[in-house]
Amino acid sequence: MIYLNGEWMPIEKAMVPVLDRGFIFGDGVYEVIPCYSGHPFRLREHLTRLQSSLDGVRIENPCSIERWDELVREMVAKNPMDDQYVYLQVTRGVAPRDHAFPKGVKPTVFMMTNPLTTPPQAQRDRGVAAVTVADNRWLRCDIKSVSLLANCLLRQTAVDGEAAEAVLLRDGFLTEGSASNIFVVKNGVIVTPPKTNFILPGITYDVVIELARANRLPLEIRQVSEAEVRDADELWLTSSTKEVLPISTLDGKPVGRGINAGKPGPVAARMYQLYQDYKRTVMRAPDNVDA
Ligand code: PMP
Repeated sequence: MIYLNGEWMPIEKAMVPVLDRGFIFGDGVYEVIPCYSGHPFRLREHLTRLQSSLDGVRIENPCSIERWDELVREMVAKNPMDDQYVYLQVTRGVAPRDHAFPKGVKPTVFMMTNPLTTPPQAQRDRGVAAVTVADNRWLRCDIKSVSLLANCLLRQTAVDGEAAEAVLLRDGFLTEGSASNIFVVKNGVIVTPPKTNFILPGITYDVVIELARANRLPLEIRQVSEAEVRDADELWLTSSTKEVLPISTLDGKPVGRGINAGKPGPVAARMYQLYQDYKRTVMRAPDNVDA
């Protein structure tokens, strides 16, 4: 069952008018919330990021935080699955085509859920291939906008190069992945770029930083140069659906040196374990408490 503008229905029945500004302009924002054994993960944080995205594009939030919370839990209850990810999207609504905002139009609210398959063990053991690509997106990458054409083109560049992700570089510095945040490890120190308008403030990024701090793993949040990316001992990508996934080759070259070259590193393995342990605390938490 999906949710569209106040109604629950099978996805086949869900229709949006062609003049929806999401369809015409990509004028909307979205969130992806992983739910483990029925428990939404970091729901408050996702809903807070939704609010910043809505503020960033000047769409009034159609629901209160409490109402969103209720809708996400209702979605999970109506679609029982082990692990799933709830997708929610808000567009500016339906109006005659004109770039300027229409007046008095209600936003379109759409939610669906799908099974969540995290990367299999074999892939985590091997790590994935990535390629570097120039980050040619707009300057508000902090907004989780449904206008994902640039991200799609960047990801396709990776796929064309038989890689899983595109690692994006802007003016000689790392930004993020086409659909993930990127972490570098050098001499045991975890390094990742700060939250600016050049990256999406990832929920997983925050969890990884919190876990590094809580476990006293050396961490630096600062600009990362292209040279540091290419010289890294380890590279990881993080996202709600990929969790913490090691990148083992970059532009066809092994990541790291010596006997560990081209293999996922020990810091990634440690962080993955910490992340799994943390997830378990959430699954044990009572229904409306995020761990
Ligand atoms: N950056 C981009 C561009 C993304 O699309 C995503 C995934 N939505 C992320 C980072 C990771 O964010 P999160 O950890 O909240 O999934």
